[in-house]
Amino acid sequence: MDNSISQFQSTLGIAFQHALSYQTSLASGPTGTIASYKDLRTELGQPLGERGLPPEEVVRELANAVAGGILGSSGPRFFGWVIGGCLPAAMAADWLTSAWDQNAVVYACAPAAAVVEEVAGAWLKEILGLPESASFAFVSGCQMAHVTCLAAARHALLEEAGWDVERNGLYGAPPIHILSSDQRHGSIERALRLLGMGNSQVIDLPTDPATRISCRDIERAFQDGISAPTVLLLQAGDINTGAFDDFASLIPLAKSYKAWVHVDGAFGLWASASPRHRHLTKGVVAADSWATDGHKWLNVPFDCGYAFVANGRAHRSALMHRAPYLTHDTVARNQMEWTPEWSRRARGFPTYAALRQLGRNGVAELIAGCCKHAASMVAQLSALPGVEVLAKPSINQGLVRFLDPRSGSSESDHDCRTRAVIEAVNATGEAFFTGTTWYGRQAMRISVCNWKTSEEDVKRTIRVFDRILRCEGV
Ligand SMILES: *Cc1c(COP(=O)(O)O)cnc(C)c1O
Repeated sequence: MDNSISQFQSTLGIAFQHALSYQTSLASGPTGTIASYKDLRTELGQPLGERGLPPEEVVRELANAVAGGILGSSGPRFFGWVIGGCLPAAMAADWLTSAWDQNAVVYACAPAAAVVEEVAGAWLKEILGLPESASFAFVSGCQMAHVTCLAAARHALLEEAGWDVERNGLYGAPPIHILSSDQRHGSIERALRLLGMGNSQVIDLPTDPATRISCRDIERAFQDGISAPTVLLLQAGDINTGAFDDFASLIPLAKSYKAWVHVDGAFGLWASASPRHRHLTKGVVAADSWATDGHKWLNVPFDCGYAFVANGRAHRSALMHRAPYLTHDTVARNQMEWTPEWSRRARGFPTYAALRQLGRNGVAELIAGCCKHAASMVAQLSALPGVEVLAKPSINQGLVRFLDPRSGSSESDHDCRTRAVIEAVNATGEAFFTGTTWYGRQAMRISVCNWKTSEEDVKRTIRVFDRILRCEGV
């Protein structure tokens, strides 16, 4: 056998064994990490040797050295942040993406990758209930999907105002106003910063107790003298509560003022894939652009996000670039005309594989299943002593808080108690949760995004809370 082939065979074999043992550990092993920062620095922070090592040894050592610092975040009892798992077909396709090592920049450079993105892009629009005519881009995550969509918004709004932003930049351009909920995700602000639309252009709209913005406040903002060009940012799935804005009322209103409506649907847009939850995104199809993730709720590996733009011409005008040394196909889709990157990973393969593994019904069941488990978890938690429910899940996100049982305890005691309970649960290695500050109060987030999570995992998690909440001294 050719020497390089035998090296691949032995090295990939070791990786395969480690991948399987990680998957096995997810069922029973700890959800958190065991090694400290110092341990990891000691294990990994050795000087780079003068001489290289055999690849088998590199991979074996790497896998052993990182072991204590790999979270069980791909497992069924990981409920922290908003983190999905990984479907077998998606993982295998992701490995092959590395094996094929295609540069998915233009069709000529990676023909199959280009066609897979064309096909999977159309499937995604169908599943998410977006217009068939919308353009799309496979990007690294929802953060870059915002950048992509808002670059299109900037192009269209300034073109309407007689300004060529790609040529002239923003020096001297009419300002673009941004209307957004005060509960927006921080990735929106970073996207605006990168696009030269500073955060001082953002007008905060207050949210009601259900974390939704109102027609009245939007109407008032326009009547207070905001003139076009304006972007209205709406939320499909608030990061803390999973709440949805009232798209059916808000979008037509914003459109009557010629605003561009962008939807942050990092995970919430997937509600459209489930017949039981589809009513939550009613009217969202009328927006101008949508950003969502594959690596959260679709359970494809990181990194994978999707941008969709109703006005494909604006999208392409914002990102289009042609280089004389590249070959731009005239029939097939050249990805770099739609994405902010140049050379890029062929990240369409895992999405294509995930959608094929699940089928339309499988996607619907994945979404509905996670929502069911989130609801069940919050309902069972609420029956335990000292648990206050702050937000009952409408989809896969919920919020609770743990009350300090001592009489006369203050808000800050409840905050401490909430942090202590989260820490105690995570320390068991049985389940993993993260906290947040919600309208000034400490809370614990319940986020269910993994295809593997079962009702048994919920029960097992509840038993941990039960034990901890009943024991003194937490
Ligand atoms: C995760 C998240 C983002 C950012 O997405 P990335 O994929 O991490 O870039 C934006 N908005 C919301 C609501 C999110 O949950």
